[in-house]
Amino acid sequence: MIEDVYLRNREHKNASSGWLRAAVLGANDGLVATASLMIGIATAAPTASLTVTGIAAIAAGALSMAVGEYISVQSQSDIEEADRLIEIEHLAIDPDGEEAELAQIYVERGLPLEMAREVARIMHEKDALEAHLRDELGQLEHTKAKPAQAAVASAISYTAGGIVPLIGALAWGPSHKSIGIVIATLIGLAGTGLLSARVAGSKPVITVLRVVVGGGIGMGLTAGLGSLVHLSGI
Ligand SMILES: [Zn+2]
Repeated sequence: MIEDVYLRNREHKNASSGWLRAAVLGANDGLVATASLMIGIATAAPTASLTVTGIAAIAAGALSMAVGEYISVQSQSDIEEADRLIEIEHLAIDPDGEEAELAQIYVERGLPLEMAREVARIMHEKDALEAHLRDELGQLEHTKAKPAQAAVASAISYTAGGIVPLIGALAWGPSHKSIGIVIATLIGLAGTGLLSARVAGSKPVITVLRVVVGGGIGMGLTAGLGSLVHLSGI
């Protein structure tokens, strides 16, 4: 009973942490890419509108994230669907062979042969396809690839991250926009660092430092590049 509750909780955590991890990565991308572009523009073309730059960066990035995520999750979903169709075919052609195959899987997972055969028989009576998808192919309802959901989630998390440097630029006033972008972005990165440390169960200080230093270097490099472009007068 206790073990039952434990297993259920663990499954729950796994299912939600995959989702949370994707959201944290999306927010991180939004923060760094938007901040870098805004700082690059601020140093290369000081008179350009940073608000317009920020909004354009968020729109372009969120869209590209959504499309990329959609394509990758869709191909995962295609593979799952193809496997499902093959399984349906196999079950129709050779149900006994499939039942033996399922029993073999349970033997490999530690059941005695007689019990494994019994479990496979019961599973086949109940819902053979479901048992094969779950126990042979590892397809679970809550881990099923959902392209549209993944696309929307990554676009939203990217936008949430990208808005942070934009707010920083607006909040610090016209003369100190770059400082505002950097401070807001570093605070945002500390936030995503903390979140990802919680998701991964790693040490918060190290993870936060890694994310903040990495993002800081990214912004520093684009600022340097921007200055070069500005000085060369391109
Ligand atoms: Zn099978």
